[in-house]
Amino acid sequence: MKQLTSLALAIGILTGTVTAFAQDFPAGKPISIVVPFAAGGPTDRVARDLAEAMRKPLGGVSITVENAAGAGGTIGANKVAKAKPDGHTLLLWHIGMASSPALYRKLPFKPLEDFEYLGLVNEVPMTLLGKPQLQANTYRDFENHIRANAGKLNIAHAGLGSASHICGLMWQSAVKLTESMTTIPFGGTAPAMTNLIGGQVDVMCDQTTNTTSQIEAGRVKAFAVTTAKPLSGHKLLKDYPTLQEMGLKGFDLTIWHGMYAPKGTPEAVLKTINAALKVALKDPDFIKKQEGLGAIVVTDKRIERDNHKAFVAAEITKLKPVIEAAGKFAD
Ligand code: ASP
Repeated sequence: MKQLTSLALAIGILTGTVTAFAQDFPAGKPISIVVPFAAGGPTDRVARDLAEAMRKPLGGVSITVENAAGAGGTIGANKVAKAKPDGHTLLLWHIGMASSPALYRKLPFKPLEDFEYLGLVNEVPMTLLGKPQLQANTYRDFENHIRANAGKLNIAHAGLGSASHICGLMWQSAVKLTESMTTIPFGGTAPAMTNLIGGQVDVMCDQTTNTTSQIEAGRVKAFAVTTAKPLSGHKLLKDYPTLQEMGLKGFDLTIWHGMYAPKGTPEAVLKTINAALKVALKDPDFIKKQEGLGAIVVTDKRIERDNHKAFVAAEITKLKPVIEAAGKFAD
């Protein structure tokens, strides 16, 4: 039986469809992917592209995206943790799944106990940005300007534990600012970006999936990328230095996104969703869209449910000391 289902899955992946493991799922009933941030931002973007790519392998079922923003993503995540475990309510969340335990004294869910892990989706670099009027044109100018004016400047983020928040903490800690910038939380980096473009906030660090088009259009200033290696394969982002190249030893921050279901979702349903996710991650349209925005679609073993969970467990351990060290810049 096991061999037969593996064969069916292999054929399904080749043909772009999934042979259902669960006969009664999704059975024409819509699936909702909860995004714990505002519409139009980077997590939302990944979810919408993924919804489109997973539709066909799930038999053409309607897959909608629901934005449940607030508290750095923990409100939406908690909603899914408490949802009916039938596979019709899923969560797409990022590194917040691993950073939130270090940033929240009271988290209403347990990342490793209250979810079923469905597979890692992508990895996304971040970019350090300034408002168009910021008095800096290079990374050096930027760092000097912030050093001299930190107390008068503000930095936008998507709430405690969000990717933008962690990036801001890590950067302020790495450059050893003596004074911290004022943090301005938003429900996601889509509204934060609007405020950066409008000049109401001064600085933000955000995923390239949200920043690339704004940088390209000249609506914001970009100063550096957060990855260890330069993004030499990307037509726009290759022009920006890494923070390591700018002297911030060991600075390496890449955001990953994963998909989750409430604990207790039936095994056959989890297998069906994971199989559909695998088809989506091989979809040339999905890959092209993601790569255009600087993201890398996961192809390694973390697409397997157990490996996804082991990866998040390791990230929780890895991020804890980093966040604690940068903690004096937390709100
Ligand atoms: N990029 C955001 C963050 O900082 C989340 C979002 O709006 O997707 O976590």
